[in-house]
Amino acid sequence: MDEQSLSRKGAAFYSHLLPALHTPAWKRNRVAGDGWLAVGDAAGLVDPITGEGLYYAMRSADLGVRALLTDLHERTEHTYRRLLRRDFAADLEFGSRLASHIFHGKFLFGSVPSRMVQFTRRSPLFTRVMQDLFAGTQDYLGLKRRLMSNLHGSLFEIATSFGFGRSLPRPVPTQES
Ligand SMILES: Cc1cc2nc3c(=O)[nH]c(=O)nc-3n(C[C@H](O)[C@H](O)[C@H](O)COP(=O)(O)OP(=O)(O)OC[C@H]3O[C@@H](n4cnc5c(N)ncnc54)[C@H](O)[C@@H]3O)c2cc1C
Repeated sequence: MDEQSLSRKGAAFYSHLLPALHTPAWKRNRVAGDGWLAVGDAAGLVDPITGEGLYYAMRSADLGVRALLTDLHERTEHTYRRLLRRDFAADLEFGSRLASHIFHGKFLFGSVPSRMVQFTRRSPLFTRVMQDLFAGTQDYLGLKRRLMSNLHGSLFEIATSFGFGRSLPRPVPTQES
């Protein structure tokens, strides 16, 4: 803004809280009860890393309706919780454990988000993982395995981008990459 000579004087700043739950909150999160059922943001169903919630709002509504149609009486809460967990809630809960490492952790003497942006710039393999993560086609539960199986290839691409490629052995392509 300073570069573009845009003044901040008197400007209104906006922010919005996203209902992204911490790991302990996932354990005690109630999504349904006697005569009620919560979906989307109201149920805390937001990706704890990306803050995205549109898909989870619609999907939880879908699963909520299924639970109501399956168990019209006292077991609706149990069925809804089970459907959510099996579909995406277990992955979001695991993501909540990763969130603090991502936002507050350090990797190679720098913050994790900075390193992620730098790796994305320099490694097409790493870029594909990030694209899949944000598109929702890569879950958090399988992320570590994919990153580890791509590690050699990503490091090779990063080294190549700095001009060190010839002094390193070429990685063997894996199925994941
Ligand atoms: C700035 C911002 C950017 C975002 N970007 C993305 C994104 O890029 N991708 C993504 O996936 N998610 C994004 N999200 C999150 C996403 O918008 C929410 O997770 C999603 O909209 C939740 O849907 P919902 O139906 O649960 O709640 P909402 O969309 O909030 O719907 C709740 C509705 O209930 C109404 N309401 C509230 N109280 C009452 C009442 N007492 N009586 C009647 N009506 C009431 C509200 O007016 C509102 O229309 C973003 C959120 C914000 C704030």
